[in-house]
Amino acid sequence: MHHFTYRDGRLHAEDVDLTTLADAVGTPFYCYSTATLERHYSVFSRAVGAPKSRVFFAMKANSNLAVLSTLARLGAGADTVSEGEIRKALAASIPASSIVFSGVGKSESELAFAVDAGIYQINIETEGELHTLSRIAAARRKRQNAVFRINPDIGAGGHAKITTGSEGNKFGISISEAERLYTVAANLPGVRILGLAVHIGSQIRELDELQAAFGRLRELAERLAAQGHRVERIDLGGGLGIPYEMEEAVDHGPGLIEAYAGMVASTFAGLDAELAYEPGRLIVGNAGILVTRVITLNPRARKTILVVDAAMNDLIRPAMYDAFHDIWPIREPALGTPNRLYDVVGPICESGDTFATGRTLPETQPGDLVALMTAGAYGAVMSSTYNSRLLVPEVMVHGADWAVVRPRPTYEELIQLDHLPAWLSTSR
Ligand SMILES: *Cc1c(COP(=O)(O)O)cnc(C)c1O
Repeated sequence: MHHFTYRDGRLHAEDVDLTTLADAVGTPFYCYSTATLERHYSVFSRAVGAPKSRVFFAMKANSNLAVLSTLARLGAGADTVSEGEIRKALAASIPASSIVFSGVGKSESELAFAVDAGIYQINIETEGELHTLSRIAAARRKRQNAVFRINPDIGAGGHAKITTGSEGNKFGISISEAERLYTVAANLPGVRILGLAVHIGSQIRELDELQAAFGRLRELAERLAAQGHRVERIDLGGGLGIPYEMEEAVDHGPGLIEAYAGMVASTFAGLDAELAYEPGRLIVGNAGILVTRVITLNPRARKTILVVDAAMNDLIRPAMYDAFHDIWPIREPALGTPNRLYDVVGPICESGDTFATGRTLPETQPGDLVALMTAGAYGAVMSSTYNSRLLVPEVMVHGADWAVVRPRPTYEELIQLDHLPAWLSTSR
């Protein structure tokens, strides 16, 4: 379910005409729909029984302050992976008591910042981190609430680069180590271990692996509790997938979410612990699109290469994960418009700068606007200035209102990011 629809032959984001918006803002730009964001968050949090269980939005999927504030108003907490994200969550009025700090390699200064901020929970990934955190907190005469991120040796996800739960990859503490580390932690002055966390991958659309991982987590929780350890919190991570083909999107979301919530409820039935969730992609994925203008066509024998003004630096998912994004024309094709075969590429001199290969689209001309759909998650947050291109702006729509929620920088600002060393700054 999303709020990008054609009206009077033009694609709208809620009540805002994207053609008008493109003229006002310039292309390329990201556009987010408030109503879509709110709907996904409400459907999810209702399904998993918030506020009794807790929802921490995984803000690495989209950390724009306007997105965070929209979700914060609905009661969302934040799952963060860096000091920058903690700072942004706080800036978006998400209280420290609703912030979780995850991440494979948290630096000492980041841990100190998190402890000083008084955040809800730190998800510990290694024995070394356990000791470091305890030392940092104890030096402040504090005891930080934490859980162990368990690697259940079950990976899942839409691509090898987003699978995180296998024994061989870099995430978390093995099940066999967890019991020993609980005992180690019991003797440390600066931490209070309250439970377990798991996150096995992203873009997961079959529940089997999640269920298997959660089953292992429950067994471990019961073993630990039987040994007298506190297991009050179970953090189930994120990872639920979304449809990237828009036709499917209409009836999909709630089905998978309900099935997931049901699976969790039965897996953890009777266990006396608070359940927490860290959805990212599921909340923001199809609440955002990337609008881009066709620069030129390059006809080939069997297909036409369509060069657009967005590039891999603006949306890297196709280059990095071979990800599929639906492409919609902003002007609804008139009846009888022929379909053509296209490669849709950006202007960067890398073969990876390709959004789609062999895609059938209605005939398109230079100057036309198209939208890369389902670009709200892992889109703008992964953008860069590669090729000295300006960071792509973000716009948020709210009914008939819209606002630029991250402006496109100027070329002066881009150039001023670099500084000349003294030996080069005097002219000869
Ligand atoms: C990336 C991540 C998430 C969010 O994953 P999605 O697939 O976007 O839901 C949640 N928790 C942790 C620890 C993560 O690393």
